[in-house]
Amino acid sequence: MQIYKVGGAVRDRLLGKPVTDIDWVVVGATTEEMLAKGFRPVGADFPVFLHPKSGEEYALARTERKSGRGYGGFTFHASPEVTLEEDLIRRDLTINAMAEDDQQNLTDPYHGQRDLEARLLRHVSPAFAEDPLRVLRVARFAARYAGLGFTVAPETLELMRQLSESGELEALTAERSWKEISRALMEDQPRVFIEVLRECGALKVLMPEVDALFGVPQPEAHHPEIDTGVHTLSVLEQAARHKQPLTVRWACLLHDLGKGLTPEEEWPRHIAHEHKGLKLIKAVNERFKAPKDCQELALLVGEYHTHGHRALELKPSTLLELLQSFDVYRRPQRFEEFIAACEMDARGRKGLEQRSYPQADYLRGAANAARTVAVQPLLEKGFKGPELGEAIKRERLKALKAYKDAASA
Ligand code: ATP
Ligand code: MG
Repeated sequence: MQIYKVGGAVRDRLLGKPVTDIDWVVVGATTEEMLAKGFRPVGADFPVFLHPKSGEEYALARTERKSGRGYGGFTFHASPEVTLEEDLIRRDLTINAMAEDDQQNLTDPYHGQRDLEARLLRHVSPAFAEDPLRVLRVARFAARYAGLGFTVAPETLELMRQLSESGELEALTAERSWKEISRALMEDQPRVFIEVLRECGALKVLMPEVDALFGVPQPEAHHPEIDTGVHTLSVLEQAARHKQPLTVRWACLLHDLGKGLTPEEEWPRHIAHEHKGLKLIKAVNERFKAPKDCQELALLVGEYHTHGHRALELKPSTLLELLQSFDVYRRPQRFEEFIAACEMDARGRKGLEQRSYPQADYLRGAANAARTVAVQPLLEKGFKGPELGEAIKRERLKALKAYKDAASA
């Protein structure tokens, strides 16, 4: 049997990027031989094994054929006769279809190295169209390597366009899509992910709620960039620049969905877009089965981001409601993430990227003020049950009044 490094490990070494996980392909071996060498089988569908020591993935060389809709509709053929070239041709991009032996001899039948130099994300063969997930993968790689000058080859974008129109994207499972979306959002330029999806028509299918924001104007006084889609991309860009976690990036992407529902007669104003957007945010959350923390933060940011911007003008009672909604007493981190998302929203506007955001510290101070209210003295006074809850609220309100007065003094 011959063993080669493939995929990302080869690509990233040639790019001079750190290699994190290594994928291997094994040519000329049977499952029995692998098991005899102590490899542990994973995955019921096709022959992939874990190395007994390193735990890295070793896949038997295989060919694939499309036999139906979606990912389930694939038949795999792995046997010792399958050649390295046959295995490489089933891969998505030429830069991902190179292999390397232990002497660093490169096997590159589909000119991945040429495309690396040309900074092109190009599909390997027309079989690209057999797995719609590749549309998301290409957009993700575009987001990752945009900083190096990579773009999607025109003929690949055309294939992505056809795939998006074919209805195949709808066959993707939430799990596979979310894996790509979440990784793409964590790349250096997540806005490129959305831009590429939009350019090939996939955004309209996957997240029509986000797609609908392009072409929707906002008041120029607050939004010099005017367009809501452009604003959303800038907010995402700020989130990446400030190294925000996935929860914040997801919330940034979805925070203004309600603006896509405003009747044209009301443009450029978007009254109550925060509340109107909630059902859309919920729908997107559920479509991709986003993790609970992402779902929660997106809904809270959607509902309360304007409160965040107006923090310094909020009445103490409104401030208290805000803090209660976030349960800042038990979930301090989530409130921090809310503040971060609001700040990214404020900076994701043309020419305002460097503005200061005093609301952030003000909100932190308010949360601290409310938190300092001690429960013990109220217990000692004999408060119980719902009455205790009311008494705590009263004390917190008092603390917030004092905080606001001190801040404006
Ligand atoms: P990363 O750095 O994100 O891990 P990678 O290229 O190694 O990038 P993996 O998802 O680890 O990506 O996949 C390893 C290789 O398997 C890819 O380089 C590609 O050749 C192939 N591959 C993975 N998923 C697909 C797919 N859906 N269609 C075609 N080829 C794929
Ligand atoms: Mg990999």
